[in-house]
Amino acid sequence: HAAKRTGAAAVRWSPALDERATDAARLGAELRAALDASQFRVVYQPIVELPLGRVKAVEALVRWEHPYRGLVSPAAFIPVAEQNGLIVELGDWIMRTACRRLARWRAELGPAAPERVSVNVSAKQLARPGYAATVAAILADTGLPAGCLAVEITETAVFEGGPAVVALHELRELGVRIALDDFGTGHSSLGLLQTVPVHTLKVDKSFVDNITASGRHAVIAEALIRISSGLGLSAVAEGVETAEQAAALSRLGYRYLQGYHFGRPVADPDFELVRALAAA
Ligand code: C2E
Ligand code: MG
Ligand code: MG
Ligand code: MG
Repeated sequence: HAAKRTGAAAVRWSPALDERATDAARLGAELRAALDASQFRVVYQPIVELPLGRVKAVEALVRWEHPYRGLVSPAAFIPVAEQNGLIVELGDWIMRTACRRLARWRAELGPAAPERVSVNVSAKQLARPGYAATVAAILADTGLPAGCLAVEITETAVFEGGPAVVALHELRELGVRIALDDFGTGHSSLGLLQTVPVHTLKVDKSFVDNITASGRHAVIAEALIRISSGLGLSAVAEGVETAEQAAALSRLGYRYLQGYHFGRPVADPDFELVRALAAA
């Protein structure tokens, strides 16, 4: 078995690799069946606004309720869905489900509803011709105003350039907001801000994790909030797990926080409870 010679990146064959390939193929087929059998769910995690802890927005996160393996993490199946192309259909279903959900909250809760739902979109979806038109059709069908939707993209996704960047400009034209996810962890994050229309930076959990223990982490978190406000963008800190982290982020100037401290992703968040938690 001849490994492709690509210098340092050469991958050598191993039995484990073959096994992994078979696993991925099997998983890919299972995902197709799971979509047909309606085994996917969307859960929503609050993004709160300080100082009051109002739920400003929610992030939509997909779950796979496997009949006997239980809940399967998106980290395990999104990459496979991206590889076999199912992400296009699955992603459209997630987008439609999330938009319909917020439209219903708006009808039921009025001004107490979150202002926006934020949906993760993969590079494969963005790069497909007509993606913005698909989103426009979903907004029209569900009756959700474009300003109530944000798409979350990763730096690596857009780094590939080309059609994905065109789609982002079209989405912005529609009035959809664009958030750069896991900000600070990818390549060329700062350079991207010059070419991609972005409204929001989602500062990665890794910068939040040790913010109370490490001066270096706090310095980076502070630099990121300065960049975002200097560019007129909003910043969300991801993965806030403790009241101490929330307080430290607040002192640095962060107004939007997301994490287990405020609420885990669930099917139907109790927005009042989130507010009480933030006040505690
Ligand atoms: P992400 O978009 O950065 O989402 C944040 C992840 O962090 C979520 O994991 C969320 O449950 C988790 N999280 C939130 N707060 C905390 C916290 O305080 N502590 C810890 N330890 N974790 C926290 P999840 O739902 O497992 O999703 C993982 C990743 O899978 C997402 O990262 C996103 O990249 C991808 N993903 C999830 N749903 C979708 C989707 O609908 N479409 C696409 N394309 N990707 C998705
Ligand atoms: Mg996200
Ligand atoms: Mg994120
Ligand atoms: Mg993240």
